[in-house]
Amino acid sequence: MNNSEIAAALTKMLTLRWSPVAVKLLKPGEKIPEKVTQPSVPLRHCQAITLARRGNSLYMPPSRHACPDGAAIMGLIPMSPKLRSGELYLLFKKLPTIECAQKMIASRQEFEAGTYAATVLAPLEDAAFEPDVVIFTIYPEQMMWLMCAASYSTGERHNFHTSGYNSTCADLTVQVMKTKQMNISFGCYGARAISDISDFEAYVSVPFQQLPTLACALEKLSAKSIPEARRKIYMPPVIDKVACAEPLAGNAVDVRIDSERCTGCGLCEAFCPEAVITMMTVDGQPKASATVPEKCCACYTCAGQCPQKAIQLTLR
Ligand code: SF4
Ligand code: SF4
Repeated sequence: MNNSEIAAALTKMLTLRWSPVAVKLLKPGEKIPEKVTQPSVPLRHCQAITLARRGNSLYMPPSRHACPDGAAIMGLIPMSPKLRSGELYLLFKKLPTIECAQKMIASRQEFEAGTYAATVLAPLEDAAFEPDVVIFTIYPEQMMWLMCAASYSTGERHNFHTSGYNSTCADLTVQVMKTKQMNISFGCYGARAISDISDFEAYVSVPFQQLPTLACALEKLSAKSIPEARRKIYMPPVIDKVACAEPLAGNAVDVRIDSERCTGCGLCEAFCPEAVITMMTVDGQPKASATVPEKCCACYTCAGQCPQKAIQLTLR
């Protein structure tokens, strides 16, 4: 898959609002990729990401970087003494003591000054270069599916290294390039103050090399899990009036299966975690029957999975 195909697949499967943003750090002397232009004004790295997710392809040498912190963290320029010491974080009242500021600075990932000469950014679908990382600006539900896709073939959980400081430069770019691990960020003071990221959005950054594997896993998840979850198929019909005056004795669920509708596909028996449902033969036809209703925990899995809408749960 090329960049454009991967971007199209991810956008469709995750229903992305914004283009994923391809980010590459250029080494000194490295050729500038095609189709990128310098912005007319200096921008912060988080602002450049905003412009790229809105369709712009940018070449950003140090003179185009408006944030001295971000440019230094990404190894484009030396860090100024005031930023290195942490005193500016105290002035902004983002941290209480110089010790806290220095600890925060020491624990983030940075590249040494001069390691890189420029940043290039583009919507993934337009990127005429191989990015180091791809940054998604997305909703929590979409983040969840990216996490599922990243675990899909291994079952592994994820550990993230993030903070409320230096979001797009340290946590989404340098951290991911150095560790080659996906990372998340909720944005930082700068990114929230100067870009269009909404209160309901956050970021995920993925090493570019892992993107095809993620896209494959998302395709598998799109076959069943994603559409089912988005249709809320396990949500009981009435979930906002569940309080009752007296504690119920024992199990209080009736599992009713409409034998006229039931086609005997067996999905309910297969998916029921409590083995409540058994397939029977009625007049030579397979039919589902709730043979052990007292074990029903009211999870609604059977009702959600039944393609015939043949199962009704009644809470007594
Ligand atoms: S899932 Fe529905 S149609 Fe299939 S066996 Fe169960 S009740 Fe019948
Ligand atoms: S609601 Fe859950 S436990 Fe009860 S019968 Fe359906 S799948 Fe089984």
